[in-house]
Amino acid sequence: MAKSDTTARWVKRILQGKNDPILRSFLKDVVLVRTESGYTLFVPSQTILTYLRNRYYALLVQTLEDMESAPIHLDMEVREIDRGSGQLELFERSAPEDDIPVLRLNPRYTFENFVKGENNQMTYAAAIAVAESPGVVYNPLFIYGGTGQGKTHLLNAIGNYVALHHPRLRIVYYTADGFTNDFITALQSNKVNEFRKKYARADVLLVDDIQFLANKTETQKALFHLLNLLNEGGRQVVLTSDSPPRDLKDIEDRLISRFVSGLVTDIQPPDYETRVAILKQKLHDFSPAEPPEEVLHFIAAHFTNNVRELEGALTRVISYATYMKRPLDLVTAQEALKGLVPSAERPIDMGLLIQMVAEHYGLTVAELLSKRRTQEVAQARQIAMFIARALSRLSLAEIGKALGGRDHTTVLHGISRVEQMLKESPALAREIESLIDRIKSAH
Ligand code: ADP
Ligand code: MG
Repeated sequence: MAKSDTTARWVKRILQGKNDPILRSFLKDVVLVRTESGYTLFVPSQTILTYLRNRYYALLVQTLEDMESAPIHLDMEVREIDRGSGQLELFERSAPEDDIPVLRLNPRYTFENFVKGENNQMTYAAAIAVAESPGVVYNPLFIYGGTGQGKTHLLNAIGNYVALHHPRLRIVYYTADGFTNDFITALQSNKVNEFRKKYARADVLLVDDIQFLANKTETQKALFHLLNLLNEGGRQVVLTSDSPPRDLKDIEDRLISRFVSGLVTDIQPPDYETRVAILKQKLHDFSPAEPPEEVLHFIAAHFTNNVRELEGALTRVISYATYMKRPLDLVTAQEALKGLVPSAERPIDMGLLIQMVAEHYGLTVAELLSKRRTQEVAQARQIAMFIARALSRLSLAEIGKALGGRDHTTVLHGISRVEQMLKESPALAREIESLIDRIKSAH
């Protein structure tokens, strides 16, 4: 599939600033799609998703925001991109190019289609109360929970409810990243006053993923003053975060005190019944297909921590059955999720990895694992460490063990050596990239 212009431009910009062959290799297979609420990045595997999210999320968003000159909400999803159907491509083309000035509420996220369970009961009730009477009950409302637990969904549900039932109230909805960006733009163009006025006009301010304000001192100050102002005016503020306020790192104390001055409430991962109920809700919302109960139970049993992944698994099973013209049953589900089901995720074969690295450098496996420290052998070994760290879930100690019984500090040192060399040599970066590609496709 030809990549859309947007994906290609975006990837190019990211790589201009970062000489990381793994990043380059991982970005080859992604597709960026504009959605109602921002962008979704489709990536082909959970490993890639985790890697990109943990190490590069800020860069990915930042680059996109630079391109759009506007705050952007970026979601990531595991989805094997079906190169044959061209579906995704059509979707990308149909999205208007110039039509995302600010973040908008996602109309798909409502209270009605949010499944209640023991894990989110109190937060759900608080969110409803706030949406019914903004500025009256819990202010601010601070919602925290792990990734994919429905924080963004609830925040949008509040916004959508207010928009419907209190149409005269002004709702301002941002991710903390978007807020930061807006502030920086205002600073750069000497428009801080306009910025303040704009936000101060909010009756309901919704800020998603507040943890992204870490270390952004000036933006934190701006938010602090804004919160005071809104609070005095009895305006509603709702914030979400991936951790409880007191655990937020590199955020000013006085801001944290503000966060805890209303109601702090959490969302936990859903239990088994709630997971099945969520799957049924998603089917009801989106899909004409009706998989039998046992398929839903199979999915619910294997995707336990993250509702986004739970949903992704369901979508995958249904599209797999459709494209492969298979019955929507347990066998098909198992097949579709092979390699995705976390416990059964196909691990990188260290033996194969070592063999391929050795071959690439014209060494034998024995040489690579030996105690020899000639520059050539040592460097190949360090590159093997680096690749193993990126592609596998092994710990440093485990990688060291596989590579001839080295301890974890040696591995750590090896990896940072390679990172250092990559900064200096684009040629080496390209070489490692193609090696990684080969190792990936050998699995
Ligand atoms: P977070 O912001 O916490 O990372 P999201 O709000 O983006 O998570 O949720 C991820 C996906 O899971 C969304 O599609 C959302 O609709 C869905 N989801 C999460 N919790 C629930 C729930 N209780 N009921 C229905 N859908 C849910
Ligand atoms: Mg979210």
